[in-house]
Amino acid sequence: MWIYLDNNATTRPLDSVVEAMRPFLGDQYANPSSFHKFGQDVRCAVERAREQVAALIGADPKEIIFTSGGTEAINLAIQGTLAALPTRRRLITSAIEHSAVHRLAARLAREGYDIDEIGVDRDGRLNLAELEDKITDDTALISVMHANNETGVVFDVRRICEIAERHGIRVHIDAVQSVGKIPVAVDDFPVHLLSLSAHKMHGPKGAGALYIRRRTRIAPLTTGGRQERDLRPGTENVPAIIGFGVAAEDAANTSTEHIDRIRALRDDLEARVKAAIPITHVIGAAADRLCNTSNIGFERLQAEAILILLSERGLCASAGAACSSGSLEPSHVLRAMGIDPVVAHGAIRLSLSRFTTPADIDRTVEVLTEVVKRLSATMPAHS
Ligand code: PLP
Repeated sequence: MWIYLDNNATTRPLDSVVEAMRPFLGDQYANPSSFHKFGQDVRCAVERAREQVAALIGADPKEIIFTSGGTEAINLAIQGTLAALPTRRRLITSAIEHSAVHRLAARLAREGYDIDEIGVDRDGRLNLAELEDKITDDTALISVMHANNETGVVFDVRRICEIAERHGIRVHIDAVQSVGKIPVAVDDFPVHLLSLSAHKMHGPKGAGALYIRRRTRIAPLTTGGRQERDLRPGTENVPAIIGFGVAAEDAANTSTEHIDRIRALRDDLEARVKAAIPITHVIGAAADRLCNTSNIGFERLQAEAILILLSERGLCASAGAACSSGSLEPSHVLRAMGIDPVVAHGAIRLSLSRFTTPADIDRTVEVLTEVVKRLSATMPAHS
């Protein structure tokens, strides 16, 4: 029924993921920390999932800590580092982070930490010279994203990690949007901490992971049992972890053919929308972008109005980050990129997946063209 182009918000779980989870929602309900064989069988399944997630990013299973999702992994990485390095009071981050980092940084600033926010250029690329300048002896951590959730623009994490390594500074990468879409191997760059989320890669909601490189010390955020090497106490969300493992294995085995096919569909969509609608601006188009993401601004329009009409016609899209839609403010990401507010107010995000078909793209071009033309004719000019 729906044409679902909101895959950066969440993805459809694979059938194999749902099937693998089913026993753990029913018969296989034992606690993986229990001593009996019933519990230990479930422990084996959790450890198998840890191996699958580790294999996806080239990590050792011992370096994977399961969490409830990307947000918790990010909080554990940042707050856990600050607690483990109490003499260092500075955090470096970028101006276009997801709210899991952005709002946490704002809270830390209110608590007395110094936050250095690195800017981006008009295409969303990080200013690396500024990054190097901002590093001080007091810097505890550099936390930046790999791929931006609103624009799909990919940061050069290898260069970021190399700069940090020269200064002996720890790096956390929010790889929630990149893992499963582009190859990410933790041995390719000297990263210490990296956050992942199952539901962005055709896994279930409620599972994520923090990769913690060997010998990187962090403090837990919560206190309780001894699960997850004392770093994430509480009985594990076993069904979601099992589903995460299957999604990770599937992503690891997915050939680049998928990526090429999705990119071709995305590029076709953008070319046809630009040809049909002259007021179209593709945001971040000159930068390295995820294959599935398109952020398109329509001059003088309001994203919310476009999204309502698209939704009425069966098309799911977003205005920037899912959690910021509903507000009429243009996103902090587009603002930091210096996108003209006349364009930013009318920017929508279309994010594809392996389930997107050429017919979906045909229909999207048709519906979007009709909606934008209709709104352009009726909406007053935006001042
Ligand atoms: N980081 C990025 C870049 C994201 O896009 C998201 C979710 O949209 C998150 C973090 C938060 O992940 P989760 O929804 O698993 O908490």
